[in-house]
Amino acid sequence: MWRKPLERRLAEQRRAGLWRERAVVAARGAGSPSDDDTCLRDFAGNDYLGLARDPRLAEAQAEGARRHGAGGRASHLVSGHLAPHHALEERLAALVGRPRALLFSTGYMANLAVLQVLGEGTTLLQDRLNHASLLDGARLAGARSRRFHHGDLGDLERLLERGNAETPRLIVSDGVFSMDGDVADIAGLAETARGHGACLAIDDAHGIGVLGDHGDGCVGHKHDSTRVPVLTGTLGKALGSAGAFVAGDATLIDAMIQFARPYIYTTAQPPGIACATLRALDILAEEPERRRRLHDHIAYWRQGAAALGLPLMASDTPIQPLLLGDCIRTLRWRDALRRRGFLVGAIRPPTVPRHQARLRITLSAAHERHELDALLETLAELASCDPQEVAS
Ligand SMILES: *Cc1c(COP(=O)(O)O)cnc(C)c1O
Repeated sequence: MWRKPLERRLAEQRRAGLWRERAVVAARGAGSPSDDDTCLRDFAGNDYLGLARDPRLAEAQAEGARRHGAGGRASHLVSGHLAPHHALEERLAALVGRPRALLFSTGYMANLAVLQVLGEGTTLLQDRLNHASLLDGARLAGARSRRFHHGDLGDLERLLERGNAETPRLIVSDGVFSMDGDVADIAGLAETARGHGACLAIDDAHGIGVLGDHGDGCVGHKHDSTRVPVLTGTLGKALGSAGAFVAGDATLIDAMIQFARPYIYTTAQPPGIACATLRALDILAEEPERRRRLHDHIAYWRQGAAALGLPLMASDTPIQPLLLGDCIRTLRWRDALRRRGFLVGAIRPPTVPRHQARLRITLSAAHERHELDALLETLAELASCDPQEVAS
């Protein structure tokens, strides 16, 4: 009974070129040579600073586990809130210039929590390209999301003016859009929110560690908590470990601790992970050359890809998608690259809008310049075999 409908959906998924697969990746990171086909150069991950495989993080994690135990043992409100968790919250608050921060096990859960706590009885206004976790959070809150055109403050204004001004409003946007790589106009969003007495929440999952003068992201110290009251960031991307945080003032954080179901009803993250993140924050402060190298790579990549006529998108971040449009084509390119030793993401609907399938190529400080050259060369080869595909 339950099997038939699932089988039908699976067959349809495959037919439409939407089948999702998990590449088994050998224990190597960005920048490693590809000497067999399970050992690919990683241009798909989010390890932008090359910290995920840094032995100092692994050591901090192991030492943390030896000292505090391998597991989180309980939720934060029971007996799982350990010293490294608490220390990490203080460091994260300082990183982004907020009075307080609250640690979560994943960014998905942090966003569910924010939307659940702030979304109830609220009009939610979300950028159309927001991350799935923000849309799912609205469902948890039982709230309807109104979605404005991507990055379009005029459209947001229209929605705000149309709505009931008595109902509290929450504007929600990714900081860096995860599948496009462009950065939200934070100043514009903050201004719009202020003009309408709305609250503003930014999810800076891909900005933390990468953008800002100190890796504090696209919000950070530039836009304080009076302008951007709710800020989430993740720790499993540029910071190379795992988890996420929500940062803001005491009222926000107290409310999250009291009311957020995705915070209350789950086991605290293993303390060793928090120790690894603390080490990553040290490295972020001590080695700004990682960020510089990453930004050099981005500029070099864009120049090279533009010279080849590849369909770049408007992004100055390490997320450098190539817009191919069609799912089947995107898969063909992805597979051809894999055979040549490069792992890149094939991003298809519903993650991106229809007819906007793309290769999601990401850059990392762990890459070597010659690896960027090798990937560009391979892409040039693919494009020349299949010129009309790139033009579309
Ligand atoms: C990755 C991501 C998340 C989820 O973070 P996890 O820690 O991986 O659960 C949330 N928001 C955005 C924009 C992301 O890219």
